[in-house]
Amino acid sequence: MKCTRNRSVIWAAALVLLGSFAAAQPQPSELTLVEVQDDLYVISNPFVPGNVTVLLTDEGVIMVDNKFAWDYDNMMAMIGTLTDQPVKYVINTHYHGDHTGGNEQAQNDGTVVVASENARLKMIEASQPGLPDITLDEHAFVHLGGKVAEVFRFGRSHTDGDVVVYFPEHRVLTAGDMFTYGASVPQLIDYAGGGSARAWTRTLDEVLRLDFDTVVPGHGDVTNKAAMAEFRDQTLTLRIQVRDMLANGSSRADIEQMLRNDYNWADLHVQRGLDGLIVEAQ
Ligand SMILES: [Zn+2]
Repeated sequence: MKCTRNRSVIWAAALVLLGSFAAAQPQPSELTLVEVQDDLYVISNPFVPGNVTVLLTDEGVIMVDNKFAWDYDNMMAMIGTLTDQPVKYVINTHYHGDHTGGNEQAQNDGTVVVASENARLKMIEASQPGLPDITLDEHAFVHLGGKVAEVFRFGRSHTDGDVVVYFPEHRVLTAGDMFTYGASVPQLIDYAGGGSARAWTRTLDEVLRLDFDTVVPGHGDVTNKAAMAEFRDQTLTLRIQVRDMLANGSSRADIEQMLRNDYNWADLHVQRGLDGLIVEAQ
């Protein structure tokens, strides 16, 4: 995977990935609707900031993630084209602002917000609005209208509070930023948020034991389990590459350049991930 992308675009994406409210432009994204199955949709946008999963039932809607606050009205309008039912639950895959930004407005509309306890703690630390109402440590079922979304937290990866949401009847998994798909959205290890390159591979191994075909990544196009398995392998390759460079006496600057060249890391990936990765790779 060689660097061919426009750095400024990647930089903008990286800012949004961490939910830097001050740096991101508070303008609604242009949203698109992707039908995954007849009752399961993804609200996406051409590049940033990522995917929202929508499960329709006769008794309401379950959403996974909800972008930024300024995207809320457009998201709701789009869901309104699919169903008259209200959104009963939104599950946040992790604490970053581009996945939790709609929480406060959702709660005002009567939606219950679900996340991991670790994600909630990070939201408190970051003084984010819309704290989750219900949290889980490892596993929860969200039942609605005869359908179910299973929520799992297997361990550290992008942060220490990432969950995946599994729709067993649909054989679909929503992965959050534990899995980003495409060269323009590289792996971001948020050490300040409890992320871990070493744990990431193991965590994905746990996720890949679930029985699913389709994967909704945190950012990037809807894809399949094989692509997620490839990403898993890359999390290991990256760490081994850094370990070998350290063993061969490479400097921090050498490693940074390799990550920029081979893995499309941008400034923010370096700022948030490089020092922690060097410690973990040794
Ligand atoms: Zn994120």
